[in-house]
Amino acid sequence: MSAGTRIKRLQQDLRRYAHAYYVLDEPEIPDVEYDQLFDELERLEAEYPEFASLDSPTMRIGGIPDDAFAPVQHQLPMLSLGKAQELGELESWYRRCQELLQASGEVALTCEPKIDGVAVSLIYEDGLLTCAATRGDGQTGETITANVRTIQSIPLRLHGAPPPLVEVRGEVYLRDADFHAFNAKAEAAGERTMVNPRNGAAGSLRQKDASVTAKRPLRFLSYSIGQLNIARPPETQWQALGMLKDWGFPTHDNARCVPCLEDAKTYIDEILAIRESLGFAIDGIVIKVNSLASQHVLGAMLRRPRWAIAWKYPAEEATTRVLDVEFSVGRTGAVTPVARVEPVSVGGVTVSNVTLHNMDEIHERLDLRIGDAVWLLRAGDVIPKIVRVQKDRRPDDARRIVAPSVCPVCGGPVARPEGEAVLRCMNGLTCAAQQREALLHFASRLALDIEGLGAKRVDQLLQAGLIDRPSSLYTLEFEQLEALEGFAKVSAEKLLEAIKASKATTLPRFLYALGIREVGENAALNLAHHFGDLDALTDADIEALQTAPDIGEISANYIAAFFREPRNCDEIRALRDAGVHWEALASTREAQPLVDQTWVLTGTLNSMTRGEAKARLVALGARVAGSVSKETHRVVAGPGAGSKLTKAESLGVPVLDEAALIETLAAHESP
Ligand code: NAD
Repeated sequence: MSAGTRIKRLQQDLRRYAHAYYVLDEPEIPDVEYDQLFDELERLEAEYPEFASLDSPTMRIGGIPDDAFAPVQHQLPMLSLGKAQELGELESWYRRCQELLQASGEVALTCEPKIDGVAVSLIYEDGLLTCAATRGDGQTGETITANVRTIQSIPLRLHGAPPPLVEVRGEVYLRDADFHAFNAKAEAAGERTMVNPRNGAAGSLRQKDASVTAKRPLRFLSYSIGQLNIARPPETQWQALGMLKDWGFPTHDNARCVPCLEDAKTYIDEILAIRESLGFAIDGIVIKVNSLASQHVLGAMLRRPRWAIAWKYPAEEATTRVLDVEFSVGRTGAVTPVARVEPVSVGGVTVSNVTLHNMDEIHERLDLRIGDAVWLLRAGDVIPKIVRVQKDRRPDDARRIVAPSVCPVCGGPVARPEGEAVLRCMNGLTCAAQQREALLHFASRLALDIEGLGAKRVDQLLQAGLIDRPSSLYTLEFEQLEALEGFAKVSAEKLLEAIKASKATTLPRFLYALGIREVGENAALNLAHHFGDLDALTDADIEALQTAPDIGEISANYIAAFFREPRNCDEIRALRDAGVHWEALASTREAQPLVDQTWVLTGTLNSMTRGEAKARLVALGARVAGSVSKETHRVVAGPGAGSKLTKAESLGVPVLDEAALIETLAAHESP
């Protein structure tokens, strides 16, 4: 293809993608791909200027403002940002700033997380919000005042002594939890889901009916001042952020002013390390020259200011192709479809398998076929998910995915129990896959914690016919192990030692290890402390079970059914006969010192893991929750604590440091 044809093609495609992204809020391709094509076009246009044209996507910012909203002229253009993904690019940007400013030394910078939302401009006259606009094409935006007024974190009147006129710029965005909750609800109601938080925010803002926007959990974060009519304007970006805060705007808690580029690099690494715990999507860091006078000197090129640059983190979205769909069988017999995809890097890791959860996901939500090009999202610590199929890239020979009619592992019958979305193998522990998973679960760290008994060893022992259920682990003998390939004398002894050591356990661990459905680590802790001993628990009926904290009807039914099953009772007896034991717990909840208190742990602890802290708090009767609310009694915050700490402070929830936690535990735990 000639350069001219390629340029035309790129211009055409990018125009279409930009329209879908900015105007329809329905992106056709992930950002990384758009950025790659955009870079290619910029390169080609620079090399072959005869093909560049004024209506090329490289000449404009954003999209075309939608006619549905009244146009508004920005007094100062709302620009895009230059990007850097390699240190070399960042360094040459910084050197260029130094040169243009004729600086003999370092240039101070501000660093702010680049939140992935929608830029808005807010005009305040005499302290009152009079106009809100989108960025539009950078020169002309769309008026969205009514919609913006529904966002709680945007003050309708500025705090303190307001200037006669100020333009506040910032990002409207969705927090991860709100995004997931919204999608879960939409999915359950069969409504359209949001592709990612950014497009969700954009779509919510551009609703014609502001009462729809009001129902979306939008947030706002301010990061700069545009026009300003004031006697003493700020001299630096850092001062501007302070001013915004004083006027009542949320700003980034972890923005930082640094004296040189080296410190900005450290900042980039530090934020990357906590990216997943921020609670909202960021796609990088914005680095700005701190002095506003210097910013003025540096000015802007066509679409980007010279005084700022965006450092891009690894993208959390990518496209790939589905090579096959296989079915795996889990501990509870759930037959889960897993897509094998062409390996692709998302969020800094290479993904080659993606769970598809169940057949409804395949047929109803995604309409997925083998061979399809798909769009992957791996945001934060969430497992990778296929968010949509790119139907226009579907090959002719794409194959339909058929649910297995028998268990793919044991060939036993499968069924879809009423009210469930998953298929299950009905063979229970006679199914090799379920047997294997049950053994692995039993030996796992939070269960009986048998060191050295990982998947490879379990497979080997199963194949040799030496084990078939947890209790059979305790019958293993040295000679049997030593005869197996790969087992030397020392490793055989070590494994037997670990198995023996696992006999002394705790009731919560034992309950968790049994692998009862719906009984995770938390429920096991609650049940153990509520009932105190195993017999009281096995005797409890469904009603009594529900008196334990956080045990609902569904879990109670599973628990009762588990203990009714003679095979399970035999296995528990066999485990106890083999010597598995635990110490009795104080069961009377009323006697527990922290009963009915809700605690939240955030940040890192030094002297113990969070899991340990949680177990000790629960043992004292507390409930340990994942989020802060008015009902929270105490928040324990270690280094790195972020939004939960802020929320606790804003709600007036008492916050303890690690030393205070240790003191509380020591005061209540019996010697
Ligand atoms: P940009 O990524 O170049 O950065 C500018 C924007 O950063 C600002 O408008 C503002 O909204 C935001 N920002 C966040 N935090 C900030 C802070 N602290 N200070 C200043 N600004 C901050 O935005 P752009 O010019 O819209 O670039 C285009 C982006 O949109 C690219 O990431 C591109 O991939 C994406 N895009 C994607 C498609 C697609 O089809 N997937 C199409 C068009 C554009």
